[in-house]
Amino acid sequence: MKIYNIAVLPGDGIGPEVINEGMKVLQALADVDSTFKFESTTFNWNSDYYLKHNRMMPEDGLSTLQHYDAIFFGAIGDRRVPEHIPIWELIMPIRKNFRQYVNLRPIKQLRGVKSPINANGPIDFYVYRENAEGEYSNIGGRLYQQTDEEIAIQNTVITKKGVRRLASYAFEYAEKNHVKKVVNATKSNAIVHSMKLWDEAVEEVASSYPEIMVEDVYIDALVAHLVQRPETYEVIVASNLFGDILTDLGAALVGGLGLSPSANLNPERNFPSMFEPIHGSAPDISGKQIANPIAQIWSAALMLEHLGRKDLSSIVMTAIENVIEDKKVLTPDLGGNARTFETGDAIVQQINHQYRR
Ligand code: NAD
Ligand code: MN
Repeated sequence: MKIYNIAVLPGDGIGPEVINEGMKVLQALADVDSTFKFESTTFNWNSDYYLKHNRMMPEDGLSTLQHYDAIFFGAIGDRRVPEHIPIWELIMPIRKNFRQYVNLRPIKQLRGVKSPINANGPIDFYVYRENAEGEYSNIGGRLYQQTDEEIAIQNTVITKKGVRRLASYAFEYAEKNHVKKVVNATKSNAIVHSMKLWDEAVEEVASSYPEIMVEDVYIDALVAHLVQRPETYEVIVASNLFGDILTDLGAALVGGLGLSPSANLNPERNFPSMFEPIHGSAPDISGKQIANPIAQIWSAALMLEHLGRKDLSSIVMTAIENVIEDKKVLTPDLGGNARTFETGDAIVQQINHQYRR
């Protein structure tokens, strides 16, 4: 039997609090299901580590992580460290070096969750965000600093191959799931070089899927439509920045950041994929055990699915939805007064309940 090796990176702020609950859920599955075994190693590569060592991870950090089956990540960001450091020295190197070019972000209204808007049906769509290039490049620079003539230039990198591989992954999913339309988030009317190439590459991929329509929608109009009729969307492909913004909006439509997971996927599987909530380290609520751990636990479910255990993933999702629908154990962001660990415990109880039946 395969024993999955999981690298655990709790990070900063609420990261360690919510990842504890994610690990609790994985352990609960291993306890009740003899066909599932995993081993985990925790790496405390966070802002404390940075303050001690002046770097976010050891020099051989990536080669250490490379041998794991998956990376389970909490969140990073700490007021004592410049904001760009954890992003550019930890998250980006992992995403880029491990070719995790698909950032899959499900925007799904779970059973029992109220949306702040009155949609004409359940909200349930996938955003496929390009995760390895695009607007999040560190190419550029600043000139004439500290003068009134100061200039900053930041380059966006769009490659035909980069867009094609992302779009292919999304269309492949759409085809398998009989989705009739893929929406392409663009802005090629104003950003004429990079976004035009983006559109062309998406169109090229689309031409191999004649039964699926591709609709180009400008990002500004798209955010408005997502608020007005989110139930009509199924699959959206978006660049790194657009996908980031779309999914915080999406999260707000389906109960908030505390309920929104993500998968950073390396489809070729020659490197580990990484699973993390879309939220950050939430310094405003950290240390109080009031963060919602569901985004993290759902991320664990995405990891199980990636590892080939769709069955266990479904068990976790049913457990999460039962706890939400039950309304007895909800964290403050969902209107309750449960603590972080109580939500994790309740989900574990629901898992055990499913195995007893
Ligand atoms: P954030 O996602 O940390 O928090 C935004 C708001 O959502 C806050 O009010 C927070 O309390 C709330 N929130 C977030 N997660 C929650 C949860 N699980 N339960 C309940 N409420 C939750 O974003 P921010 O405040 O813009 O950033 C804080 C720090 O996190 C910054 O340092 C930022 O750079 C970093 N960040 C990291 C990641 C990451 O690790 N991938 C992502 C985004 C932001
Ligand atoms: Mn974000």
